[in-house]
Amino acid sequence: MNERITGHTQLIGLMAYPIRHSSSPQMHNAAFEKLGYDHVYLAFEVGEDKIEDAVNAIRTLDLRGSNVSMPNKTLVGQYLDELSPAARLCGSVNTIVNDHGHLTGHITDGIGFMMSLKDNDIDVIGKKMTIVGAGGAATAIQIQAALDGVAEISIFNKKDQHWARGVDTVEKINGQTKCRAILYDLDDTDRLRAEMADSYLFVNATGVGMKPLEGLSVVPDASFFYPELIVVDVPYSPLETTMRKMAKEVGCKTMNGLGMMLFQGSAAFELWTGEPMPIGYMKEILHISYDE
Ligand code: NAD
Repeated sequence: MNERITGHTQLIGLMAYPIRHSSSPQMHNAAFEKLGYDHVYLAFEVGEDKIEDAVNAIRTLDLRGSNVSMPNKTLVGQYLDELSPAARLCGSVNTIVNDHGHLTGHITDGIGFMMSLKDNDIDVIGKKMTIVGAGGAATAIQIQAALDGVAEISIFNKKDQHWARGVDTVEKINGQTKCRAILYDLDDTDRLRAEMADSYLFVNATGVGMKPLEGLSVVPDASFFYPELIVVDVPYSPLETTMRKMAKEVGCKTMNGLGMMLFQGSAAFELWTGEPMPIGYMKEILHISYDE
């Protein structure tokens, strides 16, 4: 008889639609099992029409908390009691913690990104980074980087439907943190080259490089890179994108998006349990290597 699940087992959810493809249940349940925690993590198909009811169910059924993914990340905050500073600035929540009926929303994507840098001996605090993207992942990274003490952030994006969010993020960073942020048009390649030239870190936080944009790169060619620049991709499928291949050939230290994926999960895990995931073990079972 399986003795892990008992009458005391605490349930943690994942509320999104679609969600059956997610690897988060395997990741969290493996960590619970390894640490002997009496918790279980299950995915629930919940779209925007059901998210309010689902949040009420967290209180009714006394779940310990939940992850939230698309399409609910920007919608769910209005049904919670409190938001972390990063979730409030991002306007987005991916983790809910239930403390006796009081629900707090957090966003751990940016925390996970910053933790993955630290884990790979990359220290961007007090320095300048250039980042492409103004969508959900990029915003979470930019806000957390600013809160954590990155000195300067140059943001590039296409003038598409995400541009307005970039404008909003820059306004919030400049108005509410000590960091200085500027938004530029990604089509201005001279400016991109100039901003990359005095940055410590360059980040691609768009879906470019990942299916269906596989084979494409946000950086036009290898001449934009130089060996001292650290180059990080948020996409992780395929692991090696055209952009990182170019950067590696120039001699840059590079990193794929697997670290962010692991540490955003670990940060949520820690919010629910008080302990981080067993990172070494997780890297081993998930076959995580940063530079593939
Ligand atoms: P999103 O839809 O919110 O934002 C997409 C971004 O990509 C926008 O900035 C958009 O302008 C840009 N973009 C789209 N097509 C482009 C093109 N042809 N050229 C230049 N820019 C383009 O998406 P998101 O949730 O921010 O996710 C972005 C990527 O990050 C996805 O690949 C996602 O899988 C990945 N991601 C990874 C992690 C992780 O843990 N590593 C976490 C979240 C998201």
